[in-house]
Amino acid sequence: MTRPIRLEISLPAIRHNFQFIRQHARSRQLFAVIKADAYGHGVVDTAKALADQADGFALLNIEDAVRLREAGIRQPIALLEGPFDAAEAAAMADYRLGGAAHSIEQMDWLAKGSAERPVEVWLKINSGMNRLGFRLEQAADALARLRALPAVRPTTIMTHFATADEDYGVAEQWERFQPAAAASGLAVCAANSAALLRHPPTHGDIGRPGIALYGASPFGNATGAELGLIPAMTLSADIIAVQHLQPDDAVGYGRRFIAERAMRIGIVACGYADGYPRVAANGTPVAVDGQASGTVGRVSMDMLAVDLSHLPQAGIGSRVELWGPQVPIEQVAAAAGTLSYELMSAVMPRVPRIAHS
Ligand SMILES: *Cc1c(COP(=O)(O)O)cnc(C)c1O
Repeated sequence: MTRPIRLEISLPAIRHNFQFIRQHARSRQLFAVIKADAYGHGVVDTAKALADQADGFALLNIEDAVRLREAGIRQPIALLEGPFDAAEAAAMADYRLGGAAHSIEQMDWLAKGSAERPVEVWLKINSGMNRLGFRLEQAADALARLRALPAVRPTTIMTHFATADEDYGVAEQWERFQPAAAASGLAVCAANSAALLRHPPTHGDIGRPGIALYGASPFGNATGAELGLIPAMTLSADIIAVQHLQPDDAVGYGRRFIAERAMRIGIVACGYADGYPRVAANGTPVAVDGQASGTVGRVSMDMLAVDLSHLPQAGIGSRVELWGPQVPIEQVAAAAGTLSYELMSAVMPRVPRIAHS
């Protein structure tokens, strides 16, 4: 009836991962970061799964935030980039959404609201990433301006680390941010997954874990499972054809793979139009009916090939895990020169998604 490919989401794994972060974090509160459709895991399913654990939720687009309110999510919701225009600032009050203010323009939009329904604002500080936020020397003025607005209630001061997952670390940004944060008297919110797992002094009042909730590691040198997390996303597809190769036979577009010996390969119903990275190298890990193998040749739009030479039992209908509990997404990402974040959030809508609760 349908093409044999599916994206399975384990909501118990997400719950486990949240609990794991809770045990490691010193933050008083944890806001689950569920932007980009919860990194491809489904924003409503994920929020519902965490509704009894998370202190709040953080995401980007107001449409998703409204869907959460309509699905009965009552926790605080923070828009990580704040309103994108005046109409969104008004909708924030209507739906009881908080969020960042990183510019004077946003403050002006928020100022138009009413004192009866003040919007909870997170003052966003640029401590070195140079993406969003007020510079440190502007922080006190920006906060004074917010405090003067009846339609706004500043609750939190936030910044974002550029290198929490790398050897460079967070000391430089934290040393800049911390005095301004302390002086503000607001709740302090800085730590992403990497900082929550590796930099306890930065945990502050509110932590913002994203990737770790989904069971992947923010670090280049460890998988999520190695850290104690459980991968929540499994992308799998079935073998739809088998080819027998002779030495010197080529596979796929561009003859990127040439057989050195006789081989058996399986053609899998998954390609880059499903979100599997086209640039994944020959030998990118997969699991065929639970047995380790690797890709062969270039990934096509709707298909890719895997080596079955050592798997005589495998054939048409065998299930191939592209990433999940058996195939760490971090390894697939490394073979494609990217990050688990990108793979998770780039699975295409045409892949049916099944959430297990
Ligand atoms: C995405 C994001 C996070 C979560 O980061 P992870 O590395 O996925 O834990 C936290 N804060 C902000 C501002 C973000 O954009």
